[in-house]
Amino acid sequence: MSGAFYKSVEAKVSSATSRSFPIVNRTSLHGGCINKAERIESDDRSYFLKRNNESFLLHFEEEQAALDELSGAGAFRVPRPICSGLADNQSYLVLEFISSGQPAETSWELLGQQLAQLHQSALPHFGWHRDNTIGATKQINNVSDDWISFFSNRRLLYQMDLAQKNGFKLKNGPQLLESLSSFFDGYSPSPSRLHGDLWSGNVGFDTNGAPFVFDPCCYYGDRETDLALSEFFGGFHPKFYDAYNEAYPLDQGYVKRKILYNLYHCLNHFNLFGSPYDSQSQLMTNQLLKFV
Ligand code: ADP
Repeated sequence: MSGAFYKSVEAKVSSATSRSFPIVNRTSLHGGCINKAERIESDDRSYFLKRNNESFLLHFEEEQAALDELSGAGAFRVPRPICSGLADNQSYLVLEFISSGQPAETSWELLGQQLAQLHQSALPHFGWHRDNTIGATKQINNVSDDWISFFSNRRLLYQMDLAQKNGFKLKNGPQLLESLSSFFDGYSPSPSRLHGDLWSGNVGFDTNGAPFVFDPCCYYGDRETDLALSEFFGGFHPKFYDAYNEAYPLDQGYVKRKILYNLYHCLNHFNLFGSPYDSQSQLMTNQLLKFV
């Protein structure tokens, strides 16, 4: 990356923090799915820098807005956003750097309680004030009072249509959409503030073992969607679920709906990465239709 890029980042961070920030060291970091990440340091402090091509500026602005939304709720620790911008044909986002450590005895329990606190939010509608990006796929957040139609149109149908454009037609997709209301018998979710992309890759522990979360894709929706995604790639520590359930018990219909909610992410994974998420999405759909 060119010197001009880092000069521009130095100037923007200095201005955003009202303190000069001459970069004296840079370290590449691994672990992100989408962006290049680095630790940038001056003599007295360091920040986390993500960058990508110019088209990602909107995505970084969305991430900054989502971090503001989560930190405003005061439930989780999230990295404080410093600034975002464009320099030398690259877009970037600068965040507080949080040094990673290992989870302590009570870390997962605390994370479960914090998620329950985040979800106990009385919000006026489903959706959000802006669209955002899940992975690299657009996520439509136009507000609605009707969760079932919101999840049907702005989540499942959107990904099914995209999958078809990408060469995979989900068999019985329309049939599943028509029967969605049967998954909500006796259950009427209220809008909760969501992390929106809560998988283990977006959870960290600081050097004291205190949890923090990052890379959110916020909107207001059924709280079960966060729990469902947390289980999709193997699941979090059992203490996390026990603490969540104690603080904010889940409805028994969650067991079926979590497959429905994860179908959204599975289709998105097909749209981002291709096979085998097409056959997995079909298996999930077949399983869901057996409940109808
Ligand atoms: P991407 O947007 O490319 O998926 P992430 O936001 O997931 O990137 O970050 C990549 C990795 O960097 C994470 O796996 C995590 O270990 C680390 N990380 C994320 N945010 C911070 C931060 N604020 N401070 C320090 N390390 C971080």
